[in-house]
Amino acid sequence: MINEGALVETTDTPMVNAQQLVKSFGSQIVLNGVDFSVDRGQTVVVIGPSGSGKTTLLRCLNHLEKIDSGRIYVDGQLIGYRERNGRLVEDSDANIARQRAQIGFVFQRFNLFAHMTALENIIEAPIHVLRQPKHEVIERAQILLEKVGLSAKASAYPHKLSGGQQQRVAIARALAMQPKLMLFDEATSALDPELVGEVLKVMRDLAEEGMTMVVVTHEMGFARDVADHVVFMEKAQIAEQGPPEQIFGDCLNDRTREFLGKVL
Ligand code: ADP
Repeated sequence: MINEGALVETTDTPMVNAQQLVKSFGSQIVLNGVDFSVDRGQTVVVIGPSGSGKTTLLRCLNHLEKIDSGRIYVDGQLIGYRERNGRLVEDSDANIARQRAQIGFVFQRFNLFAHMTALENIIEAPIHVLRQPKHEVIERAQILLEKVGLSAKASAYPHKLSGGQQQRVAIARALAMQPKLMLFDEATSALDPELVGEVLKVMRDLAEEGMTMVVVTHEMGFARDVADHVVFMEKAQIAEQGPPEQIFGDCLNDRTREFLGKVL
């Protein structure tokens, strides 16, 4: 019998539970004691000025950056570390890879494999990392392409696709791993303005379907309409957080108001 006491995972635990995160680059503190949690099925949008630590927070959640101290649990699992003799030591590469496989990450730059078609990009990891049967993976990939509105582009190579289409393939590729959590790091920032909407629509659909998501974005309309919870970061800390009605309506914090005054 394993998983007794505090180790039991229940559906009541938040999907993300990060406690007292501290992260520095050299002498610069980028996360200064950040507590961050995301309930299952929620979309949390992280906003704030450039350099406030938003991307670093996101990258720490799947151990793309190592925290200096604190704890991150995703679905009840400690991320990146395990306990040995009462101390935390970094987990093995294989375990970290296994954890990352359950967390989808969509980058600002889409990073598709240039020599593979849209469909091949999507099926690569489920076949080679998860070792799922090819016919099942292809079937699922076709459904995902339809979901992101790109059924007609299954055989297209990335250079034949617009930035918005490439980003939609990148989202389908992340979803093909059947993640429990999706992280979006300024997924529309590199796109021409006319292509932003098609990517935000895919993200909005996902949120409505109940995917658990953390979205770092400068798209305040998206934050206001789609977020269940908005986190405002400033100077390596969470300065204010709450439902969008609070943050965009009657925010309590002067700095939130000042920031929104500049970007809205
Ligand atoms: P945001 O996403 O809010 O713009 P970031 O998390 O990207 O903020 O960056 C926070 C601070 O950390 C910035 O000052 C940035 O220059 C610095 N930073 C981020 N990544 C690195 C890195 N790999 N090495 C050194 N400094 C970094």
